Amino acid sequence: MRQLVILGGGYGGTMIVHELFKGGIPADVRVVLVDRLPFQSLKTEYYALAAGTASDYELRVPYPHHEGLTMKYGEAASIDLDRRILYFADEAEEPLFYDQLVIALGCTDNYHNIPGAKEFSCSIQSFASVRESYMLLNNAKPYSKINIVGGGLSGVELAAELRESRPDLNIALIDRGARLLSAFPQKVSAYVTNWFHEHEVETRSHISITSLEQGVIHYEGGDIASDVTVWTAGIRPVELVQNLNVPKDRQGRVVINPYHQIPEYPEVFVCGDCASLPFAPSAQAAGSQGHQIAEVLTALWRGETPKLQPIKLRGTLGSLGKKAGFGLMGKTQVTGRVPRLLKSGVLWKSKHHWG
Ligand SMILES: Cc1cc2nc3c(=O)[nH]c(=O)nc-3n(C[C@H](O)[C@H](O)[C@H](O)COP(=O)(O)OP(=O)(O)OC[C@H]3O[C@@H](n4cnc5c(N)ncnc54)[C@H](O)[C@@H]3O)c2cc1C
Repeated sequence: MRQLVILGGGYGGTMIVHELFKGGIPADVRVVLVDRLPFQSLKTEYYALAAGTASDYELRVPYPHHEGLTMKYGEAASIDLDRRILYFADEAEEPLFYDQLVIALGCTDNYHNIPGAKEFSCSIQSFASVRESYMLLNNAKPYSKINIVGGGLSGVELAAELRESRPDLNIALIDRGARLLSAFPQKVSAYVTNWFHEHEVETRSHISITSLEQGVIHYEGGDIASDVTVWTAGIRPVELVQNLNVPKDRQGRVVINPYHQIPEYPEVFVCGDCASLPFAPSAQAAGSQGHQIAEVLTALWRGETPKLQPIKLRGTLGSLGKKAGFGLMGKTQVTGRVPRLLKSGVLWKSKHHWG
C-alpha cells in the first residue's frame, strides 16, 4: 500500500482531498489527512470571531468522509525529508511514514524581530490564538484603547468588524506605510480610510514600531498607550516549514517546481501559504494550487505526464463590517455594498463546498 499524507486541512489541503476523491483514487493508495483540529476552520473569517460577531461554531466546516481517507488529528512537529517520516509534537504519537507528502500548513505571524511584539500583542493567525484575542478584545473595559498593527486586508477587516461589535472602544489602525491596503489601488485605499473616519476608527500611517511592552507600543516618534494590541503586520510560513532545510524565497516560502514539488524531493508537494507562488498568499491561491496538486497526483498515479494551465485568480474581496466592502476583481475596483454581498457568497460556498 502506498501512503499519501496531506499535512494541513485548510483551504489547500481540503481542496486536494476533495478533488482526489472526486476522480477516485487507486486501490493501493491510502490517503491520510493530518490536522491539529478536528474540522476545517475558515481562516478568512477569523477577524469576525476575534471581534465577537461570529461564533466559533460558525467558522467550522466538517471534513469530508470518504472510504480510503483516514483522518489523523495531532500537532505536526517536524519532517525528515530524507527518511520520509513525519513526527508529532506529542512523542507518544507514532511517527507517520509517507510515500508522497503535501505540506499545506498555512502561515503564522511575522514579528520582524521587533522586541516584545510576540509577547505583548495578540494574534489572529491560528484558531487557538483567535479565541484568545476574542477574549481580550471582548473583555476589554469600556473605552479601552485597542491598537491593530498592520493595515493590510486582515487588519482592516478586524478594525471594521470590531467597530461594529464594540462602538465604545477607541480603535486605531497603525501602519508603517503611507496608506492602508498598499496592495490595493489608491482609490480603494481612500474609500476604506474614509469609511474608518466616518466610523471613528483612527488610522495612523508612517508609524515604525521599535518595540512593545505591556500597555505601550514604542515607535520612532514616541509611545502609544495600548490596552490590547493585535498583530496583523506580516506573515510567514509556520515553524515546521521555517525549520525545513530546503531553498526558500525572501518571504520564507518553499521554492517549488511547476508541478508544485520540492525539486530535490519530488515526492513532496507544497501548497498555499507555505509555497513560493507568483502572487500574495490567499485562500483562493491555496485552493487553485490544491486543485492542480490533485491533478498532478492523479496523473502520476496513472503513469501520465501532468498538463497544467497557469493559475488565474479572480480577485480579492474585503469586508468593512456587515454592510460595506471593497475589492479588486481583475482590474476592476469595487467598493460599497456589492463587494460585501459577493464576499458573503464566497463564504457560503466555502461552508457548503462538500455538500
Ligand atoms: C483575518 C484574515 C482574513 C483573510 N481574508 C482573506 C480573503 O478575504 N480572501 C483570501 O483569499 N484570503 C484571505 N486570507 C488568507 C487566507 O486565509 C490564507 O491565505 C489561507 O487560509 C491559506 O490556506 P492554506 O491551505 O495555505 O492554509 P490554512 O487555510 O491556514 O490551513 C492550514 C491548516 O494547517 C493546520 N495546521 C497548522 N499547523 C499545524 C501543525 N503544526 N500540525 C497540524 N496541523 C497544523 C491548521 O489547523 C489549518 O487547518 C485571510 C486571512 C486572515 C488571517
